[in-house]
Amino acid sequence: MDQTPFDAPETAEPVAIVHAPPSPAMGQYLELKALNPGYMLFYRMGDFYEMFFEDAEIASAALGIVLTRRGKHQGQDIPLCGVPVHAAQDYLKKLIGLGHRVAICEQVEDVAEAKKRGSKSVVKRDVVRLVTAGTLTEDDLLPARASNYLAALAMLRHGETDFALAFADVSTGELTVLPLTAAALADELARIDPAELLLPDAVRDELKAMRLVLPSGQIVIMPAEAFDSVAAAATIATAFPDGSVDPSAWSRVERAALGALIGYIGESQKGVAVALRAPSSERLAAHMAIDAATRSSLELLETQRGTVRGSLLSEIDACVTPAGSRLLARRLAAPLCEAGPINARLDAVARLADETIRATQLRGALKAVPDLTRALTRLALGRGGPRDLNAVARAVAAAGELSRMLAGLDDAPAELAAIGTTLATAPAALAAELGRAIDEDPPLLSRDGGFVRRGYDTALDAERALASETRAVVAALQARLISETDVKSLKIRHNGVLGYFVEVPAGHGGKLLEEPWRGTFIHRQTMANAMRFTTAELAELEGRIARAHEKALEIEGAIFARLVAATLGETDLLRAVADALAGLDVSAGLAHLAATRGYARPVIDGSLSFDIRGGRHPVVETTVKAEGHPFVANDTDLSGGALWLVTGPNMGGKSTFLRQNALIAILAQMGSFVPAIGASIGIIDRVFSRVGASDDIAHGRSTFMVEMVETAAILNRATARSLVILDEIGRGTATFDGLSIAWAAVEALHNDTGCRGLFATHFHEMTALAKSLKRVKNVTMSVREWEGEVVFLHEVAPGAADRSYGIQVARLAGLPETVLARARQVLGVLESRSSGNSAPMLDDLPLFAAAPAPKKPEINPLTDMLDQVRPDELTPRQALELIYELKKARDAGRRS
Ligand code: ATP
Repeated sequence: MDQTPFDAPETAEPVAIVHAPPSPAMGQYLELKALNPGYMLFYRMGDFYEMFFEDAEIASAALGIVLTRRGKHQGQDIPLCGVPVHAAQDYLKKLIGLGHRVAICEQVEDVAEAKKRGSKSVVKRDVVRLVTAGTLTEDDLLPARASNYLAALAMLRHGETDFALAFADVSTGELTVLPLTAAALADELARIDPAELLLPDAVRDELKAMRLVLPSGQIVIMPAEAFDSVAAAATIATAFPDGSVDPSAWSRVERAALGALIGYIGESQKGVAVALRAPSSERLAAHMAIDAATRSSLELLETQRGTVRGSLLSEIDACVTPAGSRLLARRLAAPLCEAGPINARLDAVARLADETIRATQLRGALKAVPDLTRALTRLALGRGGPRDLNAVARAVAAAGELSRMLAGLDDAPAELAAIGTTLATAPAALAAELGRAIDEDPPLLSRDGGFVRRGYDTALDAERALASETRAVVAALQARLISETDVKSLKIRHNGVLGYFVEVPAGHGGKLLEEPWRGTFIHRQTMANAMRFTTAELAELEGRIARAHEKALEIEGAIFARLVAATLGETDLLRAVADALAGLDVSAGLAHLAATRGYARPVIDGSLSFDIRGGRHPVVETTVKAEGHPFVANDTDLSGGALWLVTGPNMGGKSTFLRQNALIAILAQMGSFVPAIGASIGIIDRVFSRVGASDDIAHGRSTFMVEMVETAAILNRATARSLVILDEIGRGTATFDGLSIAWAAVEALHNDTGCRGLFATHFHEMTALAKSLKRVKNVTMSVREWEGEVVFLHEVAPGAADRSYGIQVARLAGLPETVLARARQVLGVLESRSSGNSAPMLDDLPLFAAAPAPKKPEINPLTDMLDQVRPDELTPRQALELIYELKKARDAGRRS
């Protein structure tokens, strides 16, 4: 190990260098640190990565490792901490997860080379890799079944403001660019959900001005030059040196985003070219638009608590390979908007759902398929090992088998036929060569050798034989020395420090230093119980073994490099095979789901129908069944722009019913069968779902404000092709305000938008809308009262509910009996008041305008206000505001 950066040996006491110029090693450290601003420096010293100064303080707190101090810099102690190289991945994972970016600095020459330049020379070091959340390639650092995106957002102002988002999964080479309008930005960022997002300062300011909530991943502000579209053309051309990609195929803003992204990836790998795929262009119109609030409320890829378990994805993921799961997640995040491609996917699923035996065989064969794309990326980056070559061989072999199985399908649908054709092109000769060369269960790294099969290379076998024969010679030498010295316990041993040595018990050691052995046994070490020696013959033998070992390693290294080059030569073909394997896994998984869960093929066309028979909620169905209850299926018909007003008791199943219809639409358009007996869906361009109340204090938005922002987005953006799910809007404010807003929103959706929609509400007054708006229909969740208890039937029936059974449900939730009794009393008063005809007739619009002044309440107005309060839904700020309002109401009461 060379000196520490403060010029003191590792073991020495601290050396004070008060205001002295930095030592050469410290100079090297500071220089590397300055060259990589914003990165924590992992500085390689022997078997450790050391961190200094502020990095050490941050890392020791974040990782729970000891912070020490050693030496001085400008008169101050230098804080220091370190992690062992062999365990560095775990620590890196933690730091990256906490939002740090790490520069890995390695020794790029060995100590001997440094010494040649002078005894005080510092070993050369350099940053070989920048590790950031969006540029990971190691399996240990990545989620196996999810994509990991790095994205760059560029902006161009020319009268209008154009945006473009380029995003890549470095671990698979996937690269996409997408032109965007400001209105679509938030939706697409939510869909891609980048682990790391690159932005120039100006874009960050623009997003702030738009009050756009940035994704949860890491945000990296880049200099404006990184987004220069002229420089980008050169960056793109360099990244694809075969000329396969023409930068002028993209608009300026797209080029700027691509250039920044590719530049950042290149910088992160420090000169090692990342084998990215040629960028694919996406069209916004090709995908169903789903905004961030809808994604979150429908819990598509993860639940609102942030877990994958319980999400729609985890419910439908029957894929048997990680690449299949990743593709499924991508499809679920971006359902299609054109009937042709959707039906092509559905044809493939339908065929495999019909042929269950074949589908089971295909899934069985797919199980053996390793993660080919990620293995290829690691090999291309020089970070691969024998296991990655083994993975390529196994994947190609499986592809061959699967293509033969698919060939047995008569009249295969186009998608399966295309998959079969691609799989048949898998480079079998390469796989056979890799299979012959690499052991079945090879080590992770090529460095230590031992992965090439015996019999593959004659020269390698010869060196290995030499090494093992020599070991036999060592054994013979031990036997001879025992008989010659008459020391029965003499042993020839080996360790990392001394190499081979002769060991005898301490009592016999002296004998070997005397005649007739003087000069033959050379003393190396005295232990408590033993003495160690070497002999000229043993040293000669050791040299032979080491040379044979080295030679063998050299040969294995050359074989590895040759096989890697041969594999990378087939990159395009192998990537196509990997995509086909993932596509087959998704189709077979969805077919399995359809067959085992009773899902049906939806009919998808260009009409405006939305006719679901016997629809079920895919996730709630599983939960309810696990508890031993049946799930009650329900029909929905919103064809031609119908709006259903769903009323019914609390806990009656309104939210479940609303969501299940949105989920069925999304599943259908991603190309999956759906949890229903039958479904007929005319293409939906956007799904909007506003379900449940939440606040966003971090961005200064109260519960009601969030609700209104989301409702505004729906009213402004929904089209006649959209599906709108609104669950209880207007609940976060005073009853009459809320009712008025909900009323007006339904009218607008009916009269101006003409979308298909479901609207759940506890404002029973709203059911009067069905009389004046022809496409509004009232349905209710059936309930039965039995011996004073409510029984929820979860059945959707025509008609309107006249009550919500809130007090009964509150009883089930355990509210104190005194509170329940008082609530019943208050409810009685309120109900008798409204039936006493003092309330306005709500079916005569304009709403409230012509209403007589309401009678003075007979009960305390404070009680009225309190009646509307839902303590659990109040933010601290709202609670405070409520107290002020209550005081104001009391004062007003006193004055009147
Ligand atoms: P609230 O008005 O209080 O928000 P809600 O009417 O929206 O209630 P949900 O949250 O949809 O009611 O449903 C409550 C529970 O009822 C669910 O968690 C589920 O356990 C059960 N449930 C809902 N729908 C069904 C169904 N169709 N079949 C069986 N159980 C159901």
